[in-house]
Amino acid sequence: MDIIEIESRYTSGAYPKREVAIVRGKGARLWDAQGKEYIDCVAGHGVALIGHSNPAVVQAIQEQASRLITCPEVFYNDVRARLLERLISIAPDGLERAFLCNSGAEAVEAALKFARLSTGRPGIVAAMRAFHGRTMGALSATWNPKYRDPFLPLVPGFSHVPFNNLEAMAQAVDENTAAVILEVVQGEGGIHIADKEYLQGVQALCRERGALLIIDEVQTGFGRTGKLFACQHFDLQPDMLCVAKGIAGGVPMGAVLLGPRVQNIKPGIHGSTFGGNPLACAAALATIDYILEHNLPLEAARKGAWALKKLQEIDARIIRQVRGLGLMIGIDLRKRVTPYLRALMKRGVLALPAGRTVLRLLPPLVISQEELGQVCQAVAQVLHEEG
Ligand SMILES: *Cc1c(COP(=O)(O)O)cnc(C)c1O
Repeated sequence: MDIIEIESRYTSGAYPKREVAIVRGKGARLWDAQGKEYIDCVAGHGVALIGHSNPAVVQAIQEQASRLITCPEVFYNDVRARLLERLISIAPDGLERAFLCNSGAEAVEAALKFARLSTGRPGIVAAMRAFHGRTMGALSATWNPKYRDPFLPLVPGFSHVPFNNLEAMAQAVDENTAAVILEVVQGEGGIHIADKEYLQGVQALCRERGALLIIDEVQTGFGRTGKLFACQHFDLQPDMLCVAKGIAGGVPMGAVLLGPRVQNIKPGIHGSTFGGNPLACAAALATIDYILEHNLPLEAARKGAWALKKLQEIDARIIRQVRGLGLMIGIDLRKRVTPYLRALMKRGVLALPAGRTVLRLLPPLVISQEELGQVCQAVAQVLHEEG
């Protein structure tokens, strides 16, 4: 039986699927079971920053797999120690410790728990259009009713305010607020970039009223936006920084980086069986080293600015706006995006939606200028043809 038939029969049904079976990847390219080649601007939802099956990560995983795969955090471990040291050495100023886990939602979940633990307050303020993950806590911070409504009641204490509106935030944060959680560039919500004054204002508000500031960089972290962390565009000093997606070259991993205002984390208070496992730590170390050695944040800034300009030059009525920061780009359309994603796939380019109308590009940061040019050309063609 063929791959698509088998999967369709036995999978949960939780995912909207595209009619293609991907079996191999290299750099910014993927191949399907028929051998058709694609330029990959999905990159595993932004995971494959350093490209698919990057040899540096492959080698690190192979070596670590034959030495030690699992080792819970109740023991110390050589690779984990090295990763923690490296993570903190590259983290934005003021972040000095880390909790390791296995996904973005888990990183958000941990941050929310630490915020309540630290402040003794229940309230969490999040933004409209925010996406923070699908577990009950992270989902409570996520905004889209489509993700939330089937699972009510969610965790109490959460509220949502309009993004990029300091006044609304000032009204929402009070003596019951444990934390404000924000993406500095909303990804899933449609590629919306916050203003510096807004973020600085929210940070000041949090400090003044004793709430913690959690920045969710699960999608923007490790170079995606043209700096190692997106909050560095805005001189932000969050109390907690959530990361995951690209941190370990495709191996599942997440982390929360912690500042000095995060307190009361005592032994036994939180944990994860797989968190900080040596296999993921080895993959993360190799990934971070690769990102630094090849200066991928600078590559993302340069290539992203080039692609943004090219895409903004497309003269098609269907385009409402083209926005982006680094290699995180959204093309906001006047129509539903799905048919255009399908048309792009036919032309050998894989891209993502962000909400109903935004075509999102999250290519590996190692994509070549030529490949990126092909992507821009294909986007222009499908938007002209069908717009
Ligand atoms: C993808 C994403 C998450 C959730 O990550 P998972 O690994 O899918 O749980 C959380 N926050 C942001 C900003 C994301 O982009």
